Amino acid sequence: MNLPSSYPASPRSRVRRLPKRGSQERALIYEILDAHFLCHIGYVIDGQPYVTPTGYWRHGDSLYWHGSAASRMLRSQAAGIPVCLTVTLLDGLVMARSGFHHSVNYRSVMAYGQARKIEQPDEKQAAVEAYIERLYPGRNAGLRPINRQELKATTVLGMAIEEASAKVRTGPPVDDDPDYDLPIWAGVIPVRQIVGAAVPDRRLKNGTARPAHLASYGEGAVLDEVLSRNAKAGG
Ligand SMILES: Cc1cc2nc3c(=O)[nH]c(=O)nc-3n(C[C@H](O)[C@H](O)[C@H](O)COP(=O)(O)OP(=O)(O)OC[C@H]3O[C@@H](n4cnc5c(N)ncnc54)[C@H](O)[C@@H]3O)c2cc1C
Repeated sequence: MNLPSSYPASPRSRVRRLPKRGSQERALIYEILDAHFLCHIGYVIDGQPYVTPTGYWRHGDSLYWHGSAASRMLRSQAAGIPVCLTVTLLDGLVMARSGFHHSVNYRSVMAYGQARKIEQPDEKQAAVEAYIERLYPGRNAGLRPINRQELKATTVLGMAIEEASAKVRTGPPVDDDPDYDLPIWAGVIPVRQIVGAAVPDRRLKNGTARPAHLASYGEGAVLDEVLSRNAKAGG
């Protein structure tokens, strides 16, 4: 199915504060979602807001994550509960000539939908395997298969993205015109999450080599670039 190139911009998801940094464009939203795998999921149970940090993965126009407190609620509510899933990538520290104009460079997404519990064992298994595959394309094939108990113990939640917004800041600080004459250092310190040297498990069976499918996680690789490439390869 061909989806529209943009999500609808309702009062809920239209970026009002600095709208030039906002976007409802589906390709940009997917790009940001695929560059990370950690999110915060906000939902309300009995009037109490919860924001749960967790891992997620995207498949098509749906997002999935492992069980959270919401699953208790979902057990009795087949229709699901409204959730807002947010993803943030920090790209730089932005220093201006006044404290007021300090900022950060970032890419972020807020996605809205109704969380539902994935009950069907086949769909659940496909979903958890898709998570591994999205992070480490080719890894499932060499793993000890998930068993029934493990699958039963895993709660998988998913939501079709109803609406979503992206917000992106790039570039130098933006100061008040007169402040550019001040002898104050200003600029951007880029921030990146870098992959370190792998530490083989000390109980590794003798002679077990690091598999080729982990090549993308070479020492010094930039994590969001690896994740973006792996999302394409694994998705
Ligand atoms: C790492 C990081 C640091 C930030 N630091 C600050 C800060 O110090 N001060 C500050 O005021 N703001 C900061 N922001 C921006 C912040 O996320 C909000 O955009 C801003 O506070 C305006 O919030 P609002 O609810 O008034 O926006 P509104 O524009 O009223 O929000 C309307 C809708 O726009 C969308 N939207 C708003 N913000 C975002 C976003 N970041 N990503 C995706 N969609 C969005 C949502 O769908 C939201 O419901 C930061 C963002 C990031 C990612």
